[in-house]
Amino acid sequence: MPPAAKPSGTVTRFAPSPTGDLHLGHAYSALFAAEAAAREGGTFLLRVEDIDVTRCRPEIEARNLEDLRWLGLDWPEPVRRQSEHFADYQTALDRLEEMGLLYRCYLSRRELNETLSAPHGAPEAAPTDTDLLLSDEERAQREEEGAPFALRLRMARAMERAGPLHWHDRGKGEQTARPDLFGDVVLARRDIPTSYHLSVTLDDALQGVTLVTRGEDLFEATHIHRLLQALLGLPAPDYHHHGLLRDMTGKRLAKRHQSAAIRDLRAEGLTPEEVRRMAVPDRFVE
Ligand code: GLU
Repeated sequence: MPPAAKPSGTVTRFAPSPTGDLHLGHAYSALFAAEAAAREGGTFLLRVEDIDVTRCRPEIEARNLEDLRWLGLDWPEPVRRQSEHFADYQTALDRLEEMGLLYRCYLSRRELNETLSAPHGAPEAAPTDTDLLLSDEERAQREEEGAPFALRLRMARAMERAGPLHWHDRGKGEQTARPDLFGDVVLARRDIPTSYHLSVTLDDALQGVTLVTRGEDLFEATHIHRLLQALLGLPAPDYHHHGLLRDMTGKRLAKRHQSAAIRDLRAEGLTPEEVRRMAVPDRFVE
């Protein structure tokens, strides 16, 4: 299929991962993006974020898209499905590799936790130079055995290369990017040849997204995305992180929170208009 033509003007997107049915929180997020585009006479895109092929399912994707259409949303076809673009992510990784900004981390999550956390169970420190945690012999042995590895960004070097960075959030104003708080982030996982951070940043640029809207739970991720944009020579979009819908205990809605699933509300006989009205943040869902 030919790539979709790049739209002009304000471009927003909703980017669900098809791991479960969408709930009211997703409805709000999708409507937020669509309304932001409509207000500015722009385009709303839908993107399927299914890099985790072990957890994402085509039948769930079909249900997600159907729920969104039922809500009244519309987007240009074809949608970008990340699992069809691993080659693009690899090209970006190759560029970062050429800049000397990536290294192989052979440590499993358990090994890392054991090495990095304090004995009294203090929170895990931001990992840096994790390749140096293995002896040269151990690293060579794992390499020879073809052991799985993650690709990490050499954060200090990357930041030095990029220089000071800022981004603009329509809710919170000018922000100074602090990707150092996350240490040497993983850009390709042991089991998946990319990562959320890399694929989302690259796709937003490739699709010409000018305004990234998403929940405030992803606010922190933007520090990393801004750095990746600078390193890869990508434009920096505007951001708007919105409030979240929460359950009765104050926790943000999760996909397992069945009572708020759009599908179930439909089955109960609610209209799209009624569901749209229910999808507002800071409202507690039973
Ligand atoms: N795919 C992500 C999610 O479902 C959202 C990514 C984004 O909006 O940046 O949480």
